[in-house]
Amino acid sequence: MRHEIEPTEHGPLGEAMAAAVSKCVHCGFCLPACPTYQELGQETDSPRGRIMLMKEVLEGQLPVAQAAPHLDACLGCVACQPACPSEVPYGDLLSSYRATKGAQQPRRLGSRVKRFLSAATLPFPGRFRIAAWSGRLVKPLASVMPSSLAVMLQLLPDRLPAKVKLKSRYPAIGKQRGKVALLTGCAQSVLAPDINVATIDVLTRNGVEVVIPSGQGCCGALSWHVGDHAAAKKFAQANLQAFPSDVDAIVTNAAGCGSGMHEYPLILKGTGSESTAVQFADRVCDVTVYLDQLGELTGFPDSSRSRASVKVAYHDACHLSNAQRVNQPPRSLLAQVPGVQLAEIIGGQFCCGSAGTYNIDQPKIAGSLGRQKAEQVIRTDAQVVAMGNIGCMTQIEQHLNKAGSAIKVQHTMQVIRDAYLD
Ligand code: SF4
Ligand code: SF4
Repeated sequence: MRHEIEPTEHGPLGEAMAAAVSKCVHCGFCLPACPTYQELGQETDSPRGRIMLMKEVLEGQLPVAQAAPHLDACLGCVACQPACPSEVPYGDLLSSYRATKGAQQPRRLGSRVKRFLSAATLPFPGRFRIAAWSGRLVKPLASVMPSSLAVMLQLLPDRLPAKVKLKSRYPAIGKQRGKVALLTGCAQSVLAPDINVATIDVLTRNGVEVVIPSGQGCCGALSWHVGDHAAAKKFAQANLQAFPSDVDAIVTNAAGCGSGMHEYPLILKGTGSESTAVQFADRVCDVTVYLDQLGELTGFPDSSRSRASVKVAYHDACHLSNAQRVNQPPRSLLAQVPGVQLAEIIGGQFCCGSAGTYNIDQPKIAGSLGRQKAEQVIRTDAQVVAMGNIGCMTQIEQHLNKAGSAIKVQHTMQVIRDAYLD
């Protein structure tokens, strides 16, 4: 698409945004893939429409405020990317746009409060734990609270699991086949610490030594995807320092975090750390990708051969499937688990509505997508729905509960680990 964006006017991310806009040929192949276009039915809420809006703002033809509602309604699910024959890097464009123009966007008080609370608590496990405990106490009053706070309270679980303190190193069991450093995540480590426990268990049983770098922090994805570039840079810089170089890979077990860490070269563009960030991002991979490349899963006990058959529906988290193009490895690993019978979810390519803090910022669209996803999961007739992202787990569990379904929501690593324990 022809444009008159002057990249140098928009800081270090200007070039990436101009290049992405140039690639779009306005063909519209992305429209059927876009959940918000399906929900809202307007060109301005489609990928093509949003690219046009961003182009016009960056050219100085359109006020930021006019484009804002449509860009805020974008999930950032990047389902438009695999659908695009011109390979427009929509995710890079959207994140860069939000980082560059987000601060100029006018926001209501309720939205500012939600954003402040999310930014001040979610990336910090200690603070998030205190906030989650306090929130649970006032959760019964959610219905009489301002809607901005009620939405956040409703997402809190009724019970918080006990804190799990991880060691700095877990040796491989049996013959060593590899060594990785694990990103333990922030909100995930509070809401579902068992995911890290299961991940370490599966890796070590497959001959992989796991190190947990002590200086690691939030991956920065939550900040980056809502346009807080300064915070995202800080988190990225800290992780570049914290993770060691003497490992085969830096593994993640949350799709959003893995995707965010792959974006470090863009987040740190124009800084002295850009080339380090490129090398770092090359070493990041989802735990399922690492295990799949290692070979077949090993060490299931003989007793697991007689496990009762369990139907497991696999949910593709957008930031694993669309952003990192990881589709086959989790399915291939689950298919090796004794007793597991894999099921596909109809419309599986559509986002569940979680999308980072989207279900806090845009509860109406998120609720609709969550309901539809829960309905499709129920239609599979599975006993378990597995996935690789804590945000999707929270969202899907909430909507399955609302629908009265007893389908168990598990992380892919938990499904595999359970077969080792049988
Ligand atoms: S499919 Fe790609 S090139 Fe076509 S309109 Fe969508 S983003 Fe642009
Ligand atoms: S990121 Fe998702 S919601 Fe946003 S335009 Fe692309 S497909 Fe639509």
